[in-house]
Amino acid sequence: MYKLFFILTFFSLINIGCKNDKSSATELNEKTISATPKKKAVVPPVNADSTYAFVEKQLSFGTRVPGSPGHKAMKEWLVTKTKSYGLEVMVQEFTTSFMNKANVKAYNIIASLNPEKSERILLAAHWDTRLIAEKDPDAKKVNTPIMGADDGGSGVAALLEIMRVMSEKQIDLGVDFIFFDAEDQGNEGVDWCLGSQYWSKNLHKKDYKADWGILLDLIGAKGAMFHKEEFSRYYAKTYLDKVWALAQKMGYGKYFIDQPVGTIQDDHYFVNTGANIPMIDIINTLPSGMFGSYHHTHKDDIGIIDKDVLKAVTQVTIAAVYKYSDGSL
Ligand SMILES: [Zn+2]
Repeated sequence: MYKLFFILTFFSLINIGCKNDKSSATELNEKTISATPKKKAVVPPVNADSTYAFVEKQLSFGTRVPGSPGHKAMKEWLVTKTKSYGLEVMVQEFTTSFMNKANVKAYNIIASLNPEKSERILLAAHWDTRLIAEKDPDAKKVNTPIMGADDGGSGVAALLEIMRVMSEKQIDLGVDFIFFDAEDQGNEGVDWCLGSQYWSKNLHKKDYKADWGILLDLIGAKGAMFHKEEFSRYYAKTYLDKVWALAQKMGYGKYFIDQPVGTIQDDHYFVNTGANIPMIDIINTLPSGMFGSYHHTHKDDIGIIDKDVLKAVTQVTIAAVYKYSDGSL
């Protein structure tokens, strides 16, 4: 494991070197072409109750495992909801297999704001919930699906709230929201992040590119702490540092901790390596890098959600996006 990471580091360094050369050349061109300085953007507030209600709404569909009735109902709602905010919405269907299930239909849902703009940011979360609760202390319940209020629900709620606010407060930037499916159906080292793996190999638009991105996963639990995850540090350090500095400036330093933790195999890994878009992961871990005790248990229900934590991450994310839009991040 450790050794593998060093091999990855070596090859990726070469890639990063090339990418930086290219992007600075592009930047230079863009700066020469667009001479008008950008108007300062005012960061709009998000609403804690609205964000929380988006979590509750998802739980009203029950558990959302690909192939289940709750998953189907949630998909229909998510498409309708994102369209209601005036975004261009695309459903990317794919067939996948996990655990003991084969040929399951899954769906990445992609909603784009200002689709004509070339300068873009990508915000993502996974919308499926886990088929099993392998860490639950009750042995009788380990093979039943979890509600995923935090694991799935919180990230989706934040994206919807950001979308709702942006639909009312113009932003001079293209913003893509991707709700990845089938992130959380893995077993040991395999079959995680199936939606982002599919999307990275089959981009929803030809030559799709975003400047960078933020993945939100496990962002609403009581006592949450967000450390600087290793893949994010490796592939998108500039943005990671900027977002953490911004969070601290906004008074959220008790949640956004300036300490590194190890690698986490999450959707951002495939966006970074497959689509070559630098993406950070805002994800709750203990200082050790392990997940909280509620993770993949039946405790991951509405009772685990803390409105203040959920609001803090949603507000920091939207602030990062508006600040990026006027060049002040
Ligand atoms: Zn999970």
